[in-house]
Parts: sequence; structure tokens; C-alpha cells
Amino acid sequence: MKKKILVTGGAGFLGSHLCERLIDEGHEVICLDNYFTGNKNNIVHLIDNTYFELVRHDVTLPYFAEVDEIYNLACPASPIHYQHDPIKTVKTSVLGAINMLGLAKRVGAKILQASTSEVYGDPKVHPQSETYWGNVNPIGPRACYDEGKRCAETLFMNYREQHAINVKIMRIFNTYGPRMDMNDGRVVSNFIIQALRGDDITVYGDGNQTRSFCYVDDNIEGMVRLMESENHITGPVNIGNPVEFTIGELARLVISLTNSKSQIIHMPQPTDDPMQRQPVISEAKLQLDWEPTVVLEEGLKKTIAYFDSLLSDRVSTGLY
Ligand code: NAD
Ligand code: UDP
Repeated sequence: MKKKILVTGGAGFLGSHLCERLIDEGHEVICLDNYFTGNKNNIVHLIDNTYFELVRHDVTLPYFAEVDEIYNLACPASPIHYQHDPIKTVKTSVLGAINMLGLAKRVGAKILQASTSEVYGDPKVHPQSETYWGNVNPIGPRACYDEGKRCAETLFMNYREQHAINVKIMRIFNTYGPRMDMNDGRVVSNFIIQALRGDDITVYGDGNQTRSFCYVDDNIEGMVRLMESENHITGPVNIGNPVEFTIGELARLVISLTNSKSQIIHMPQPTDDPMQRQPVISEAKLQLDWEPTVVLEEGLKKTIAYFDSLLSDRVSTGLY
């Protein structure tokens, strides 16, 4: 059935892949974005499609449209961007959630929240399942993001209970792939760009902290499956790849896949940087029949090819 779907943050990394997937499935898509960290280049290939509509709008302000489903992805996701204007980050998560839930209530739409593994903070329980309440510093530099996302989850559950809205909460673990912003400071994009340019690879701390990296196609599959799941499945559901790597291992893998001469250097580790992160995905397996299919090496090769061609384009246009 053809649906009318709103994607907030649709010009961002995940949002653009989601818009593409939904258009390919024959739906009508409204892509809403304020272009803070998103980019028109990410969705330029969709603009000529009659069923794709691009709207410049900020989710901290109400938005009105008749839609069947809302994917609420609008929020900067990388530490340097969400810490740039922390108050705005909280407003984006909290007011954005209120505005989108209000819209869902008015039009009777189903709504999915892009939450995050950051709700677990620097976890004292490892690996992290959805029942763990987390270990977040409420006044630290990551709090604007972590607490904003935690409050958004609360709002989603409150709207479900008070107004019978059909809500879905997805806790996304580190996801990577083509269309990550090359300047947003996330570890996968940083290491690949540094390796391709032959620059030093900047490992923060001793590199023994861990992350579990999920390729974007797997993430989008999980997101769509969660939206389409039966009404009693609201989440939160962890969506991530449970294979854990240290940041040092990631640096060495990127160097080897790019045949780079780059050297690893160590820099100070950011305050409150989580030391371990690995999702338990039994809920996603059970409820959504979902698990990741792309191994890190395969996903990195595709991401390296993307950044390689982006850098070549920039060299040919004098932007290097
Ligand atoms: P991104 O920064 O590429 O995309 C976010 C998009 O939201 C951008 O296009 C940005 O311009 C837009 N945006 C930001 N503030 C806005 C506002 N006030 N109004 C309208 N648009 C706004 O990040 P992403 O990686 O694509 O993340 C998408 C969502 O998934 C975010 O909510 C993020 O918190 C969540 N998430 C992502 C990851 C990951 O690893 N990529 C992990 C956990 C959670
Ligand atoms: N990191 C790093 N070098 C970089 C960027 C990040 O060592 O150039 C580390 C960072 O300290 C963290 C991990 O990589 O331990 C993941 O960082 P990212 O910002 O990608 O995601 P998040 O911390 O939100 O999981």
C-alpha cells in the first residue's frame, strides 16, 4: 500500500538512505531538514521524483502535514556537532519529539524515534540490553545529546500511554557507510579520510575503548522492519552490529584496507567517552527477525570507495 511518510532529518546520513528506500518501495516521502548537519547532495538524486518533497524546516517548530508515518531522525549525531550548541541539541530532541508526537496524534500517524545507544551512557553493564537503564552523566559534555534522547524516549512512551499513539523506539548503535559527513568527526569517517590522505590516524586515548559498527543498509532494514512491526511492539529495540572492535583495531583495519602509509598517533580521550559498547540484539531477532548481514571489512570497503571518489571530486574541483 502506498503511504505518505515524513522523514525528519531526511537530508542527513541515515535519513537520506531511508528516503531512498521508501521512494524505491513506491511511497510518497516528505523529507524535512534544517541542513544543520545534513546536505542537499545526499538527496539530490531524489529531487526529480514526483513523490519526493523536500522541506526546509526546523523540528523545534510545529509542522503540519497529512501523513501516515513519521520517522523522527532530526538531530545532530556526532559529538562535535551536538556539542556545538548544546541547548539547541536538547531543544531538537525534546521540542522536536513533542512537535512530531503532536503531529502523529492529530493525524493518527505511526511514529518512530531514532534513539541511541548513548542512552546507556558509559555503561556499567556489558553488553547492553534494552532492560539496562544506563549510566549517563547528566551535566557532562555529552548530556545534551544523551539526556535529550532519554527525554524523547520518555515522551514517546507517555504519548503512547496517554493518547494511544502507535510509537516505535529504535536504539541505534554506531552506524557507518556512504554519505557520512566527512567533517563530522566520527571515528569511521575520520580514520578513512586520514588514511586516504596519508595523514596521521588520530586514536583518542589508548584505543582500547570499544564500539560495534553497523553498516547503514543493515540499519535501514532494521528501521523499516520496526516501523512495520505489529502494534504491540514499541521497543525500545537495539539495532546494531554485536561484533565489538577496539578503536585501535579499527584504525589498523582501515590502514590495511586503504594500503595507507598513515601512522597511528594518540590524542587525549574526550570526557565521558564510553569505554565499551556492544548491543544485545535478541529483541530485534525475536520481534523483527532482524540481524546484521554486512561484516565490518565489507562495509568499510564500500565506505572507503565512497570517500575515495568524494575526495577525487574535491581534488578535481580544487576543494581538497
Ligand atoms: P546526521 O547528522 O547525518 O543527520 C541528522 C539530520 O538531522 C541532518 O540532516 C540535520 O541537518 C538534521 N537536523 C538536525 N537538527 C535539526 C532540526 N532542529 N530540525 C530539522 N532537522 C535537523 O546524523 P545521522 O547519523 O543520520 O543520525 C540520524 C539520527 O539517528 C539522529 O537522530 C541520531 O541521533 C540517530 N543515531 C545515529 C547514529 C549513527 O551512528 N549514525 C547512532 C545513534 C543514533
Ligand atoms: N575516536 C577516535 N578518533 C577519532 C574519532 C573518534 O579515537 O578521530 C574515538 C572516540 O573517542 C570514541 C570512538 O572513537 O571512543 C567512537 O567515536 P564517535 O565519535 O565515532 O562515536 P561515539 O563516541 O558517539 O560512539
